[in-house]
This record gives sequence, structure tokens and C-alpha cells, in this order.
Amino acid sequence: GLGGGGSGSMTIIPGTAPGFPPFETKQGGEIVGFDIDLLSAVVSNTDYELESWKDFEFSSLTPALKNDKIDVIAAAMTINEKRDESIDFTNPYYSADQAVLVRQGASSPPSNFAGLAGRTVGVQEGTTGASVVEKQLVKPGKIAQSKFNTYGNYVLAVEDLVNRNLDAVVLDTPVARTFVDRRAVTIAATYETGEKYGFGVRTDADDLTKALNDGLEQVRNGGKYEEIRDEWFAG
Ligand code: GLN
Repeated sequence: GLGGGGSGSMTIIPGTAPGFPPFETKQGGEIVGFDIDLLSAVVSNTDYELESWKDFEFSSLTPALKNDKIDVIAAAMTINEKRDESIDFTNPYYSADQAVLVRQGASSPPSNFAGLAGRTVGVQEGTTGASVVEKQLVKPGKIAQSKFNTYGNYVLAVEDLVNRNLDAVVLDTPVARTFVDRRAVTIAATYETGEKYGFGVRTDADDLTKALNDGLEQVRNGGKYEEIRDEWFAG
């Protein structure tokens, strides 16, 4: 990654965390999704070239970026102050809030986020969903630590929800809607967090950050953004 060895174009290694549909999932061994197509379109407007995608668990992406295993994170990662202390972000490319996902036909589902008190809740490790449940419900003792389950990815959490090992899963709204389309689950409530996703880059890679921001603007202005969005967020 980054350097290019003196000749030709500079290459960058993209990293993601599959299991977060429709942003990134594995389909027959291949990583596909909105983030994959968007970053490819963005980079095609720059002097950089993408190498093959590397996949990690979500919580390992920031360390992988800092240790030069990857050069850019494209993983529906929310831009926030805490992360901004250790990595940089491009301009935002998507917005989300948090959703409370329950089984279809669940009896007395929570009618709002606070209604999760006393329930068994699943989240994906290292996410904004995990931290909002922890801060608002686990720390104040409304959910026992033993009823707060973290998973390597949300596919496993939703599996446990469907299998009745969890009462609810808390996750980003667009991904919750995708699970509703695919599994016997439904959104019981949403919780407004006003999150914005950005691509993550190392703090010393200002040229790359700038190129990605320019590339993103071209993708937005040229109609390509809507094209990719409509492909992955049908209906
Ligand atoms: N947007 C959420 C976050 O940044 C979840 C991202 C993900 O699970 N890929 O924590």
C-alpha cells in the first residue's frame, strides 16, 4: 500500500468488516456491497488504485489501519470524536441512527430505547450501537452485564435473536432494515444518534484523504452516488 514503489500509480489496500449488509457482505467468498462499490467509484476518480480487499472483524479495523495492514477503512464507520483522536475520516457519505431489532411477533416488544431495560440485548463489538447500550443502559444498571452480549459481527447477533437467545439487537438503522427484509425480525423502535459514515485513513495520509474527498465529491455530482445507492438500497 501507499507508496507505489516509485513507478506507476500509487496503490492502496482497502479494509472492511463483512457481515453488515448491504454495506459489506460476503457472497460466494467475494466481498460485495455499497461501501465496496462506493469506494471503488471514488478511487477511480483519483491517482490511486485499489488493491484487493482485506477483511477483519469491525473492532480490528482501526488497529489494522494504524499498523499499515490496510490504508483505508470502508466499513460504515461512524465519524466520532473518540475515533477522530486516532484516525482521520473523509467527508461523510451516509447517515444513520440506531434501531432496536426484535423477532417478528415478539410479545410485548420494547416501544422505545429505554424499554430495553431488563432485556437481553446483543450488539457487535466496538460499534456505536454497543457503546450507546453500554452507556445508557448497562452502566446505569438497567441491563445486567450478563444480559449484554457482544458478537464479532451482527450476522451472528441476529442469528441469536432469531434463535430466541436474545430479546433485541441494537444496530444501525439501514442495516436493521436489511435484516428485516431477510429474516423473521422487525424494528420495534429507533433511537436518534445522527451518525455519519466516513472512510477511515491514517492521520499522516493527508494527500490520500484529500484525494478521497475530491473523488467523493465527483461521485456525488456525477450521479454515480445515486446509482450505487439505488442498487444496494432497493425499495
Ligand atoms: N456505524 C457503526 C459504527 O461505526 C457500525 C459499523 C459497523 O458495524 N460496520 O460503529
